[in-house]
Amino acid sequence: MSAKPQENSKSRVRILPDDLANQIAAGEVVERPMSVVKELVENSIDAGSTRILIEIEQGGKKLIRVTDNGSGLSLEDAELSFLRHATSKISSSSDLEKIVSLGFRGEALPSIASVSKVRMTTSADEHLGGVIILIEGGGSVQTKETSCPHGTTIDVSQLFYNTPARKKFLKGDGTESSHITQVVTQHALAHPQIHFTLINNGRKVIDVLPTDQHLYRIAELFGAELAKELVQVDTKYGDYRLEGFISSPVYTRSSRSAQYCYVNQRFVRDKVILHSTQQGYSHLLPKGQHPAIYLFLSMDPKLFDVNVHPAKAEVRFAFQQEVHRFVSGSVKDSLIGSKKLSLPSMAQSENRFHATSQPRHRDRRVGSASNYSEGQSSARLSSAMELIYKDSAARSVDLESTRLRTSPQVEIFHEKPSAVSNLIYSEFEPLGQLDRSFILMQGKPGILVVDQHIAHERVLYDRFKKAAKNKKIEVQQLLFPLTMEYSPSEVELLVRHQDSLSELGLELELFGNNEFLLRTVPAILKNNDKEEIMREIVDMLPAQKHEEALHEKFEEILIMMSCRNAIKVNMSLNLDQIRKLISDLRETEMPYTCPHGRPIALLYDIDSILKKFLRK
Ligand code: ADP
Ligand code: MG
Repeated sequence: MSAKPQENSKSRVRILPDDLANQIAAGEVVERPMSVVKELVENSIDAGSTRILIEIEQGGKKLIRVTDNGSGLSLEDAELSFLRHATSKISSSSDLEKIVSLGFRGEALPSIASVSKVRMTTSADEHLGGVIILIEGGGSVQTKETSCPHGTTIDVSQLFYNTPARKKFLKGDGTESSHITQVVTQHALAHPQIHFTLINNGRKVIDVLPTDQHLYRIAELFGAELAKELVQVDTKYGDYRLEGFISSPVYTRSSRSAQYCYVNQRFVRDKVILHSTQQGYSHLLPKGQHPAIYLFLSMDPKLFDVNVHPAKAEVRFAFQQEVHRFVSGSVKDSLIGSKKLSLPSMAQSENRFHATSQPRHRDRRVGSASNYSEGQSSARLSSAMELIYKDSAARSVDLESTRLRTSPQVEIFHEKPSAVSNLIYSEFEPLGQLDRSFILMQGKPGILVVDQHIAHERVLYDRFKKAAKNKKIEVQQLLFPLTMEYSPSEVELLVRHQDSLSELGLELELFGNNEFLLRTVPAILKNNDKEEIMREIVDMLPAQKHEEALHEKFEEILIMMSCRNAIKVNMSLNLDQIRKLISDLRETEMPYTCPHGRPIALLYDIDSILKKFLRK
């Protein structure tokens, strides 16, 4: 199949033979076994399959086999499909603007075949029979007729056998197969209607049944516990639509490993989407923590370009700012308007998941992400309840021993409460305080413990922010303006931000070269040490002029000022004061976490309490 290079003894410029050109292209498309799986699975999806089976051996280095029940190929098409730039998906440059398939470059099969041994068995119509095509290193092709079911199976063996330099760069089997698990997970998430199975060295790693609900697919891949923490996103703006699920701010991870973004069903690692999502959470997340996100952005294919990366892992938006604004706004609105997700048959799905030995990407609530890896399979925890105890093995043992004691008299409550993200405070009645620091409330769902300091901080922050936005911050005129001395760079900073600070209620006036007069403070700070607060603010002022950083810093200043005046721990509150605080809290935009992202309330749910007393 290789075209003759143009021989001309005089010229030094020559056209590369096809097999060499394919190997070079393979350098971009086929980086490691995972890339082969990605390309083959994408072809199966494009072929309209409802069932895709992926089998790998030795991290995909020895064998990758993908079987589908899609359209299949005729003998002629099957042979053509291994030629460079042979594709059935586009035919003219105008098609490039409206790509709806995952593939379109016609490069994958010839690239893969140039660096491995490939066998394709395919039939477009099982009554007419099928065909087997064998290719080694992109060289000679053998074709045989056969009978086989409708669909396609592609075996890729001995990847990089003819390019030892590249083979050397492959990592251990475990690493390569975890990349493969990741890429299959990405596709399985985007296509819940397709039944995906991944078998690694004979062991089932993923097996997800078809469903028409994304949420069930998420639950099946990552566990029902995580799915319960999710908030739905479904927004539209002009040509854009954003659908999917994001975690409530009380569920976070210390890495971005639970973040899946798609543009028109294509998985992308896109900075615009990731950044705008993070911004949508704004100050709801603790520092260094990331939410779980499963977001599907769709738009007219004309509005973005997928042809900017050989493996199509990146896209370029025609109107990046618009996408950014739309996504961050959608995330924010969804979090604010979030209602408890009702998972009507989640219990049923949970049972189904536990019946099979599904791997789960395990994680912990506010802690480091520990993705499921092969070596841990035997220690897999199998019930949703146990997943709550996942933070340490010792904890599960502890739980076992308390369960064994049959007649407890006084039992320490080992149940881990859940940080609440969507409770209705009005369902609870205050009982009083615990340790003069926490408010205890009771209601149908169980016992609620509210951190009084954090709750008040949220109330003040929301009020303060609203007032700042409407330029209605209540200020206190200082009888004697405070004189404060600053270094030249501090003076420079204060001068630059003078207007913004006065909007926050801090009116400053330059006095001489290095002194400022402070004339007013926001009323909520009237009893605080003003000098100290000004010190803190100067430290927080951003050196750079970047609009976003500026906004963020002022947000931080707002938080700091609210925190200063919030009700402290170790402070008595009577029932009326408690009621007032809770009712103020209910008025806030986000009554479940403080501006730093810490939870405001913990719920000890009645079910766990009943279980502990052996009543359930
Ligand atoms: P592309 O996907 O960019 O078109 P590929 O090299 O991946 O290029 O595939 C070449 C062609 O082979 C595809 O356009 C498609 O027509 C056909 N093909 C590949 N895999 C399959 C499959 N699993 N089922 C049906 N057709 C396939
Ligand atoms: Mg393809």
